[in-house]
Amino acid sequence: MHETPSDGLITTKEELEHHLSLTEEELAFDYHTTQVLPLRIPSNFLDLIDTNNPQDPIRRQVVPTSAELFSHPQEDLDPLAEVSHSVTQRLIHRYQSRVAFLTTDICPIHCRHCFRRRFTGTFQGPATDEQIEEASAYVAEHPEVKEILFTGGDVLTLSDARLKQMIAAFRSKRKDLVIRLCTRMPASYPMRITKALITMLGEFSTAPFYLMTQFNHPRELTEQAIKAVSLFVNAGIPAMNQTVLLKGVNDSVDVLETLCNQLVFNRIKPYYLFQGDLVSGTSHFRVPLQTGLALEQELRRRLSGLAMPLYAIDLPEGGGKVPLNQGYLTEQSGCGVWTFRTVEGELRSYPDPEV
Ligand code: SF4
Repeated sequence: MHETPSDGLITTKEELEHHLSLTEEELAFDYHTTQVLPLRIPSNFLDLIDTNNPQDPIRRQVVPTSAELFSHPQEDLDPLAEVSHSVTQRLIHRYQSRVAFLTTDICPIHCRHCFRRRFTGTFQGPATDEQIEEASAYVAEHPEVKEILFTGGDVLTLSDARLKQMIAAFRSKRKDLVIRLCTRMPASYPMRITKALITMLGEFSTAPFYLMTQFNHPRELTEQAIKAVSLFVNAGIPAMNQTVLLKGVNDSVDVLETLCNQLVFNRIKPYYLFQGDLVSGTSHFRVPLQTGLALEQELRRRLSGLAMPLYAIDLPEGGGKVPLNQGYLTEQSGCGVWTFRTVEGELRSYPDPEV
């Protein structure tokens, strides 16, 4: 049974050099620092890299560069103020109807753009029994919480037995609690997703699960990744994808169009396209907002409503998510007539009903 990729896991510069000829910027990363997310690439993901292209979009997501060692003055390790919104050691309550539970800090892969690098890969390990008990007791006392995000780290690095125990702790107190499994495992290590896992989830059918994936580039949608997601969807667990808009990875309308269409074709709803957060050491990944808005506008013209993700920004200092678009409502006249711009740039009027 594969739970985490212990074989073929690349964690040192020397191992990486066996596979790739490193660029100057990649060599200049401090591979021994404990201040920055350590190197961690499963070999199956490494195999997706085009070794002849130093700017390969898969490579950019996992091979660190010296750019990560510098932080912009406005960047922060916790730009979404998760620490100040934590109500127990591992539970974040930022929005009224949902909470995020940090199930573990462990991931099979370390994405260089990770927004939770204050926690990911910090060797804290899976949530303890006490932390689970404390968080589930909080949720039991807060009926306004309708959904919980099992996040981290990557929740699917937990063994089936540990995950079962965690789900049981929450669902025994709140049978109606919707659980979102937030995981990059289908992209990073799809072998982890087994029939046994899906069967175990099926034992908790009093409320739905949702699978929240992160595919950032069409090449991540491998045959194995698609099969892994299918196991969930075939079992009645809907799949939703959150893409991070990343410079040099997917800041191209053609790449995003292909990604979104392939996601829909494989029964994964493109849910969010996230503007990069102001996380320390990630400025080289951020796309200017004006570029992001132009991409959103062109995607809206090309994609169906089903294939169109919501472009959104998580505002600094815990301001929460807000949608981003150019704005299609241009004016409201005094006589109750609204003027809109179409996606092709033409104007149309819409009168309010007379009251
Ligand atoms: S899988 Fe998610 S939590 Fe883990 S490093 Fe990547 S973005 Fe961060």
